[in-house]
Amino acid sequence: MFQWTDDALVLRVGKFREADLWVRLLAREKGLVTAFAFGGSRSRRRFTGCLDAFNLIRVSAGYSRDGRFLNMREATLLSGPERLRRDWRRQGMAANCVRFLEAMGVPPDNAAACHELTLGILRLLEREEDVPSVMPVLFRFRLAAQQGYAPELSFCSRCGRDLRTVPEAHFLVGEGSVCCPSCRRPGDMSLSLSQEALDVLGKVKEYSPESWGGLRPSPEGARQAARLIDAFVRYHIGLEWGNGRFRSI
Ligand SMILES: [Zn+2]
Repeated sequence: MFQWTDDALVLRVGKFREADLWVRLLAREKGLVTAFAFGGSRSRRRFTGCLDAFNLIRVSAGYSRDGRFLNMREATLLSGPERLRRDWRRQGMAANCVRFLEAMGVPPDNAAACHELTLGILRLLEREEDVPSVMPVLFRFRLAAQQGYAPELSFCSRCGRDLRTVPEAHFLVGEGSVCCPSCRRPGDMSLSLSQEALDVLGKVKEYSPESWGGLRPSPEGARQAARLIDAFVRYHIGLEWGNGRFRSI
């Protein structure tokens, strides 16, 4: 029987039948998988302390003979958060990031990068004293960028002008690109972007979440960045938040 061992983040855990559990994992090599812990809720001892959301575990799993179930055989806890467990607000932000990741999916060649990014946002939510509520929105942008979706922010998409030299730029919602003030045409559906918002988005695109604690955007900068990300995710990735999950529109 084919068996593998991998480092994995526990994203969610649920009950399955009487005494069994399913565990949604983001594994470094395998990507998003659902494994079953048979007898898991009764013999949690076998997986001591492992089966909680946001833990990093090393897991061994193998497919059942008929290939229908991925069975967890062994798991050891590598690390787990503390603050994230006690703080509902942070937990809500982490869950929102996980929901978005699940809705986007994890391409096989992007598994390690997605794993690293998700670990990064969880570390940020665990360690930072002050976590602005825009963080899960920034995570969406970073994940989209990592999968090759995010818009170009350095140059005007219409004339090629360096956007750092203009007082403000405009995100063209329909085109999913950014233009300078002179290239904005009447009738364009656009969102304005200050230099601060452009800077925040640029840094999120370039750096991992561990360094986002230093961003500290003003409320207006954060609002503009979040508005662009929401519009981008909606119109170009086709996902919308509703009833506790992201759904395709
Ligand atoms: Zn232009």
